[in-house]
Amino acid sequence: MKFIGILLLITSCAGNQVNDLFKINTDSDPRKTLTTDDAFLNYIADFEIDYAYYLNAEINVHDIPINFTNELEKEYLGACYYYGEKRKWKEIKINTKYWTNLDEQQRKALIYHELGHCALNREHKDDYHRSFPVSIMNSYHIGVNYEKYSGEYDYELFTHDHSELTQSIDKDLEL
Ligand SMILES: [Zn+2]
Repeated sequence: MKFIGILLLITSCAGNQVNDLFKINTDSDPRKTLTTDDAFLNYIADFEIDYAYYLNAEINVHDIPINFTNELEKEYLGACYYYGEKRKWKEIKINTKYWTNLDEQQRKALIYHELGHCALNREHKDDYHRSFPVSIMNSYHIGVNYEKYSGEYDYELFTHDHSELTQSIDKDLEL
């Protein structure tokens, strides 16, 4: 449980509906780099594999650059940016100073959250079941919950259906 304190402090969004999803009007592509930092390539590959597994369809998210930044407001772990009409250009920025504090699963949950915005066009889903967030798209990083229920959270991310997760939670709590 050692990450709880950190994660509540450094959520991807602050408590009062501050959003890590930015929609910016522009007529030209404002992105400074169109490639993704090597640190994120494994998570992107996992995301594409999981998408195919859960939806039996293909997705390619390599047109969404993911890179580190030191310029995000301090409460954000990461953020998705849409630029231009019809979300023409997209990119994800990850807050450098928090990345090293996250373990592998928490890093994956963060990248999946941001790809949930940028690749799946999902908004936040802040419902809870027995105090567990029911979605990786919660405004707060779901932290250690992802380590226990990663399959269920992945399923919800791609299908919007959190029944598998709530069933697993109920089963665990009633044992
Ligand atoms: Zn978000």
